[in-house]
Amino acid sequence: MIVITGPSGVGKGTLIRTLLDRLPGLRLSVSATTRAPRPGEQDGREYHFLTSSEFDRRLARGDFLEHATYAGNRYGTLRSEVEGEGIVVLEIEVEGARQVRAAQPDAMQVFIAPPSLEALRERLIGRGADSSDTIEARLTAAEAELAAKHEFGHVIVNDRLEQAVEELATLVGTMDTPQP
Ligand code: 5GP
Repeated sequence: MIVITGPSGVGKGTLIRTLLDRLPGLRLSVSATTRAPRPGEQDGREYHFLTSSEFDRRLARGDFLEHATYAGNRYGTLRSEVEGEGIVVLEIEVEGARQVRAAQPDAMQVFIAPPSLEALRERLIGRGADSSDTIEARLTAAEAELAAKHEFGHVIVNDRLEQAVEELATLVGTMDTPQP
């Protein structure tokens, strides 16, 4: 298992998509969330979009490996997504990454950092996906998240995408994979 964490807007999604194109043996865990779908997002592809009560029901049933509230919405990794063969990649925020670290200390943990907080603000605005209130909430969360980067085994600064993907692919190449 590879856990990719870091603040919202740092480019985790783009990095991971590029990594998966390059290393097709990896598979991405599709998280559950209570946030509303953004235009173009499809249920079961970007996320499993759940109502708050459905999220609670699945939480009570023990379906989640980890879960957290982030900028007013809930997110969680379903155990069913991480079971099975092969290397699975989780793209999650810091609180959830801590929970995975406690539950699965052997998982590779990678923190993606922005070159600066200002660069992060520009990316969140440029992405055009969130209102200015939401962006402020995400930047507040980001400051706390950035302070936690040293908790994680590896830190990659996402300044240039190609270089960051290269570093990530190299890290994945160092992982112990089960022998047939
Ligand atoms: P967004 O709403 O922009 O898709 O995601 C907001 C934040 O939630 C991002 O930092 C994203 O990585 C994180 N996130 C997505 N899925 C999960 C999950 O399953 N668990 C946790 N803890 N965070 C998640």
